Amino acid sequence: MNKKMSITTKILIAMSIGLITGSLINTFAHDIAFVQTYLVHGLFHVIGSAFINSLKMLVVPLVTFSLICGVCGIGDVAVLGRVGIKAFALYLLTTGMAITLALIVAILIAPGAGFEKAAGTAHFAVKSAPPLTDVFINIIPSNPVNAFAEGNMLQIIFFVILFAIAMLMTGDIGRQLAETAEKLNEVMMKVVTLVMDVAPIGVFFLMAKTFSVQGLGLILPMIGYFSVVILCLLLHGFGTFSLLISLFAKLNPLIFIKKMRPAHIFAFSTASSNATIPVTLQVVEKRLGVNNSTAAFTVPLGATINMDGTAIMQGVATVFIANVFAIDLSIMDYVTVVGMSILASIGTAGVPGVGLIMLAMVFNQVGLPVEGIGLILGVDRILDMVRTAVNITGDATVSCIVARSEKTIDDQVFQDPDAGVITEVELPHKSATQ
Ligand code: ASP
Repeated sequence: MNKKMSITTKILIAMSIGLITGSLINTFAHDIAFVQTYLVHGLFHVIGSAFINSLKMLVVPLVTFSLICGVCGIGDVAVLGRVGIKAFALYLLTTGMAITLALIVAILIAPGAGFEKAAGTAHFAVKSAPPLTDVFINIIPSNPVNAFAEGNMLQIIFFVILFAIAMLMTGDIGRQLAETAEKLNEVMMKVVTLVMDVAPIGVFFLMAKTFSVQGLGLILPMIGYFSVVILCLLLHGFGTFSLLISLFAKLNPLIFIKKMRPAHIFAFSTASSNATIPVTLQVVEKRLGVNNSTAAFTVPLGATINMDGTAIMQGVATVFIANVFAIDLSIMDYVTVVGMSILASIGTAGVPGVGLIMLAMVFNQVGLPVEGIGLILGVDRILDMVRTAVNITGDATVSCIVARSEKTIDDQVFQDPDAGVITEVELPHKSATQ
């Protein structure tokens, strides 16, 4: 195998081959039982899921050690609070921009206006959305071990920050622990590179499975809705973020987008911001040059509370379903949609398909038929992949802006095209034989 080829290029190639293989199977081998049982739901499923698990496996220990190092690195509770407030405010702001953009574009293009359905013929069972107060109460884990076991990111962040602050308060003991955490963090980063090494294989099987099941043919009947979502995702992903990156982070957006590629690929293949945390963290720190003291906090927080791509899908879906069911939404309804999707993205984790659950909450609030979600289900998986890539781009953008304002970004690392490139792993026995 070509030693020169970077892991990212290999993953990209594997992703494309997986996509083509899956689409071919979907078109030509859709009803061949052998292929479906042994390949799609056998081999593809097993290896793809095993790979997702190996990514998820990294998240909790990596976030824990990295966050301890980050808090100890900041060393000042006031600064910590400031970073937290900035990140939080920016996450809300970018999500607000995303949903507003989506509503404007969708209202202008009006997808779904063609095939109106009889409105008001059915009465819909409206599920009540979980009370928002619960979201805030649940940030505090009643049992931290449970939070770690379940991978509840907000609870983990809350507990780890508290723990690390206590470490800062205990002088020598805390300092020793911080050194240990730094070592553990270093080792965990190595575990990430081990998993990266098998990523081309994992990504191939993930893509092959997804596209064997999905098939691109599903998109055709929904082309209006699908293209408006993609258009808004692209506008926000390349337009809004580039603007924010150059205006507020004072960085070249082209370099930013290029360096984000490994994280994009992982987000796209896994459709999960959470599972992508290890890669996002590595890209933001090692390739974009954001110091661990900022990134360790902003990245996992963003993966949980910041979902710009998902908000975009919700904006377009709202307009689409309203058009299909010929329901007129008032300005107040649109304002409610904006508010609801911002709040919904805070309370839900970045895992595949969660956008649909959030959409149900939004629909309930403005009185749109929740059943309408059935219409967009077919294309949701593919949109989920793209919007997850947008979601994590938002996390990285905000990390860079916060880092710039805190002076914790290293411009040299950002400018260096080779900084943090994921390289082939040298297993210990290889170096022992030199
Ligand atoms: N899969 C998305 C994420 O993990 C959430 C969603 O839109 O469903 O960020």
